[in-house]
Amino acid sequence: MRLFLSLLLLACPAAWAQKKTILMITDAEGVGGVCRQDQTDPKDQEMRQLLTGEINAAVEGFLAGGADEVVVWDGHDGSQTLSTLTIHPRARLVIGVLGPSMLMDRGFSAVAYIGQHSKANTRGGIMAHSYSSLGIQNMLLNGKPVGEIEVIAAMAGHFGIPAIMLSGDRAAADELHAIVPAAELAVVKEGLARYTCISLSAPAARDAIREAARRSVAKIGAIKPYVVPGPVTLQVEYTTRNSLPIDAGSRAGAEILDDRTIRFRGKDILEAWRLYRER
Ligand SMILES: [Zn+2]
Repeated sequence: MRLFLSLLLLACPAAWAQKKTILMITDAEGVGGVCRQDQTDPKDQEMRQLLTGEINAAVEGFLAGGADEVVVWDGHDGSQTLSTLTIHPRARLVIGVLGPSMLMDRGFSAVAYIGQHSKANTRGGIMAHSYSSLGIQNMLLNGKPVGEIEVIAAMAGHFGIPAIMLSGDRAAADELHAIVPAAELAVVKEGLARYTCISLSAPAARDAIREAARRSVAKIGAIKPYVVPGPVTLQVEYTTRNSLPIDAGSRAGAEILDDRTIRFRGKDILEAWRLYRER
């Protein structure tokens, strides 16, 4: 048996070298039981418990499904909502702003979303927004309205990484399903309006998330990375109070469309996103 295994490993070194690593993107607006804006304050103790509980359930599910490593990014409001005191002992926590590649250049096996909300202007999307509810009215990728779900999936896809799982409200789940139909989804609440929801209990949400996460690991390799072919335009329409500054026209790769709208052109999503993020 040992000889057989050794021969097998010699024959295909990639098979044993390839660890299954998951990058988990987290946010607060899509967590079960979170339906009011005041609950999204990073210092809100109840929200922190609800979010951490969902994250840890997902980590349990990924590990049970065969993942070797789960890296959790604290993605909500300035990366100040999670703590290494309460995160799953076997997870690792990323604190801080991610660079333009969103860490995807580190070569994860898959990306997952926990606590995810839908893009701006989604009917029935609880606290729906695209990156900033106060600062950004709409964001368009190649002319199509997008939010975090599609931008992150496209960035992952650029690096050959599939998006395999999402938990959040029904609208967020539908949004990922539209671009990655085989992704595993855990719907923890349903939006009736922006601040009105019907939510699962925290234990029921955690159970649904644990199971979806566990199932999703087996789909690594089967789910194709979501690739947005280049060239790519990224158009950002800011809110009126956040209209473009005086020097906006001098930004590289940028075209001013009106007082609050700017468009970046890149050969791919990475370049367009980098131009947008550069200040
Ligand atoms: Zn958030």
